[in-house]
Order: sequence, then C-alpha cells, then structure tokens
Amino acid sequence: MSDFELTVLGTASALPMAHRYPSAQVLSVPGRLFLIDCGEGTQMQLRRGGFSFLKIEAVFLSHTHGDHCFGIFGLLSTMSMLGREQPLKVYAPVTFAPILDFFLRQFGGELRFPVEHVALEMNSPQCIYTSSKMTVDAFPLEHVVPCYGFLFRQAEPPLNIRKERLEQYHLSIAEIAALKRGEDVLRPAGPFTEPCAENGFVPQSGTDAPCLMRAEDFTYVPYRPASYAYCSDTRPFPRLADWVRGVSLLYHEATYLADMEDKAFVRGHSTAAQAARCARDAGASRLMLGHFSSKVTDHQLFLEEAREIFPACCLANELESYDICGL
Ligand SMILES: [Zn+2]
Ligand SMILES: [Zn+2]
Repeated sequence: MSDFELTVLGTASALPMAHRYPSAQVLSVPGRLFLIDCGEGTQMQLRRGGFSFLKIEAVFLSHTHGDHCFGIFGLLSTMSMLGREQPLKVYAPVTFAPILDFFLRQFGGELRFPVEHVALEMNSPQCIYTSSKMTVDAFPLEHVVPCYGFLFRQAEPPLNIRKERLEQYHLSIAEIAALKRGEDVLRPAGPFTEPCAENGFVPQSGTDAPCLMRAEDFTYVPYRPASYAYCSDTRPFPRLADWVRGVSLLYHEATYLADMEDKAFVRGHSTAAQAARCARDAGASRLMLGHFSSKVTDHQLFLEEAREIFPACCLANELESYDICGL
C-alpha cells in the first residue's frame, strides 16, 4: 500500500441512491486511517473496503448536513462494541456540538471510549492536526451552513546525503546526522579534495584550512511530500485556489453541470466546470470530482465538462483507492 492513499466510500449528494453512498472517504497513512465525512452507510463501505474500524485515528466532518455526518453515530457505537478504549477526536464545526451532546446523553453510557469534539470555527486556514507523518489544515468553505475543507499534507521527508559528497569528504556519522537535520557543519581542518563552499571558509586542497559544509550543498530532498485537499460542499470562491495551491490531489464537489449553475449557487454547490477552474487556478496536479446530484445519471458528463478546462481530472468511484504519492 502507498504511504498516502485515498479510498472513496461515497460519491452521492443528499438524496439516497440505490447503488451509491453519500460522502465518506478514508485516507490511509502507514498504520493509521483518517475518516473524512461519514454519511449513512459508511460502516458497510468500510467493511467492504476491508478497513479495520479500530485503526481509525480521527474523524473529520466538513459540516452537519446529514449526507456528511449521519453515519458517525452508528460508527461510534460499533467502535465501542469492538472494544475501542482509546479517545477518538472528531474535527467538526462548532454546530456539531449540540448534536453530539444529544447523542452522548442518549447513548453515551454505552461507549467505552471518550469522544473529543474539536470545534472548527475560523475564517482562514488553520493547522488542526500535527503528527510525525502528517499535518492537517482546516479552512472555511462557502456553503449554506458552516462548512470546512481539509488539506492533508505528508510531513517533509528527512534530507538525504549526496553520495558523491560522502565519498569526497569522508563524512563522519556526527557530520552526516547534523547535515541531515539541515544544519551547516564547520570542520576545523582539511585535507579536502575541493572547496566545499563558495562563500565563507574555502580551504585549499590538502591544507589545514577550516571548511564550512553547507547542508544545502551536501543534501537533497528525496521526494516531494504528497498532499490532498477535500472540498465539499461549496460554492466556488477565488481564495480557495490560494488555500490549496500546488496540492497533489484536489477533491472538489461537482454536484451539478454548467447548465444548472444558478441552482448550484443558491444551494451552495459547484458545477464540474467551476471545480475544474479551481483546480486549474490552484495548479493542482490532479482533480477528483464527486458529490454528484441524483438528477444527473450519466457521470461522464461531469468528466467531459471538467476536462475541457482541466484535463487531469477523474471521477470519484466508490471503493476505489488512489495513490496520492507521485502525482
Ligand atoms: Zn452534501
Ligand atoms: Zn451540504
């Protein structure tokens, strides 16, 4: 499995469909799962996808419309039945607090683990989660109720030492460790085979002159960290592209097609073309469309509309996994 893999569990919008589920996704990082939205049926989709409920580290709910959160309550009960004791953080808008309180008052006595609601209320992006493997920013979307998007970013990888430098300078273990931490290293004396810095200390070959070894000359970043932005539900707005700039994979809702743009605006949604413009303006590597209206049965129409503006586009397919690394 990839180090940063997305599995789509639900692609429908609000109305129930015979063969599709409402919004839910799982982001897998080594050893951990992060659930993003939790519409009805999420538990069944998790089962079908072979995911362990107990590996879910945290839940991120974009907003309190039922197609994004009705599944969380059954999931909490199941986690308890499966023996979870570790606290579960649920990142959700402030408006989720009374809903969770009601659930916990009615059913909380049966839960064997604490549920910690991390209340989201912000006007611009804020970091809400940090670990050694990943950070998560939340940012406001423009919907008809308070709603937030999430940007998941792999942590910067440790620097690698350039092999040729290793051989040229016979680096010690302590020097390697410091350079990999991004620290410059001052060697008090030579001998060296070539100058190791253009500025500062420049030793003559074979002399005892000191040498400043700059981390940027001796190391490289082995790969570009992957990132994933989840944007559902929202009208288009210009700042969104700035907030997800350069993202590897952008999931953007495309509830409607361009001929329903007025309806989309009134309901706080986007068309496929508007999602594509956001991906283009953000310089995203790839765009994924989802949250499709039940009124449109031919999903290829979403894809065709978006690809005219942003060709690197795909449709979200339920129970398909997408490797975000290397996009
Ligand atoms: Zn929705
Ligand atoms: Zn909504």
